[in-house]
Amino acid sequence: MHEMSIAQSLVAIIKEEMEKHGLTRLHAVRVCHGRLAALVPDALAFAFEACTLGTPMQGVRLELAEIPIVLRCSQCAQEFSPEQGDLFMPCPACGEGLGHEVLQGKELYLDNIEAE
Ligand SMILES: [Zn+2]
Repeated sequence: MHEMSIAQSLVAIIKEEMEKHGLTRLHAVRVCHGRLAALVPDALAFAFEACTLGTPMQGVRLELAEIPIVLRCSQCAQEFSPEQGDLFMPCPACGEGLGHEVLQGKELYLDNIEAE
């Protein structure tokens, strides 16, 4: 379950950010995740809760924003976004189905924290 290790690194990053900016009360956390990062939102929410239990971060709101996949065709360089997260969707412009470059969708990062 890689959500647990993601939650642990999130907690570590948040702590570091808060110390850096002299913040003491955390309200909310926003995480952006690409569809290709294969993150299970419920599993991350659960892991985050487990990691923060009994700490000052307990009960913090975790917001998850999904980033859609964007591909660039290997033949004609058309950029497109497959609806179902299917990497082998044929290019809508020329029909090529192989070798598309992934421009977006693998991301997984802490986007924002709300704290004071
Ligand atoms: Zn194409």
